[in-house]
Amino acid sequence: MSASEPTVLELGLPVRAPLDGLPAAVRIHEVGPRDGLQNEPTALPVEVKAEFIARLAAAGLRTVEATSFVHPKWVPQLADAEQLFPLVAGLPEEYPGLRLPVLVPNERGLERALAHGVADIAVFASATESFAVKNLGRGVEASLEMFAPVVQRARAAGIRVRGYLSMCFGDPWEGPVPAAQVVEVGRRLLDLGCDQLSLGDTIGTGTPGQVTALLGEFADRGVGPGQLAVHFHDTYGQALVNTLAALRCGVATVDSSAGGLGGCPYAKSATGNLATEDLVWMLHGLGIETGVDLPALAATSRWLADRLGRPSPSRAVRALTGDGAPHQ
Ligand code: MG
Repeated sequence: MSASEPTVLELGLPVRAPLDGLPAAVRIHEVGPRDGLQNEPTALPVEVKAEFIARLAAAGLRTVEATSFVHPKWVPQLADAEQLFPLVAGLPEEYPGLRLPVLVPNERGLERALAHGVADIAVFASATESFAVKNLGRGVEASLEMFAPVVQRARAAGIRVRGYLSMCFGDPWEGPVPAAQVVEVGRRLLDLGCDQLSLGDTIGTGTPGQVTALLGEFADRGVGPGQLAVHFHDTYGQALVNTLAALRCGVATVDSSAGGLGGCPYAKSATGNLATEDLVWMLHGLGIETGVDLPALAATSRWLADRLGRPSPSRAVRALTGDGAPHQ
């Protein structure tokens, strides 16, 4: 591209055109360093991961899921959690309000998190029996039993707990997942003491009517949007429109991954997590506050793409950084 050709970067921001009935602000739960990197084939040096998290904080993100205190055998990409956390633990002093949650699979993981002074944890459950058995090595009931003491001990220590619920819309082994089943398992997680439930479309097959119906079912069962977050995957190109459906239902916490990091491990696709840049472009266009500096974020994803050796799958990153942007 020659210097005279205009790029989207020269405009830099979407046109602001608000819609009625949406939240004034959205808290983005950035999952790139954990959910993103754990699904990338390339393992990065711990210093690069620490710089990535620091850049995300500098770009205005205030919830950055940092890593996972899971057994290194299960997720070798995050085997350096013990080395990483001390490198980033000081960031909340520099960026007030910054939260750095870590994924904790069991009581052993919680002990490791407690030893590092972690203030936010997340546990990872499944709405379906098949995925629970395949991913967690035990069924839904047994996995909830495993989480119960983790959540109780964390809450007693003053730690906030997020409950991830995966396979909320479709399951590769079971097909469509009934909303009543998702709400049942979700309510059990909240009853254990989780502060927030993140509803995951793990294989990305959901569509906006399904999202609206599921959130309506939660509301009917006494779980309002203030307790919920959404975690969409863009495998079928539905992540942003599903996000808009959730915003219309009042959800104001949205999970996304900088640069769209992390393919979909259950579909042969390079496109998995919703890219934070794509999300921010839409939210800022709608006049919804995020606190994120979009060009700084896109530059961070471009920087990380060089370290991973592959271009970001995010459309907004490509448009903003000129990487793969179409010529006129
Ligand atoms: Mg994900």
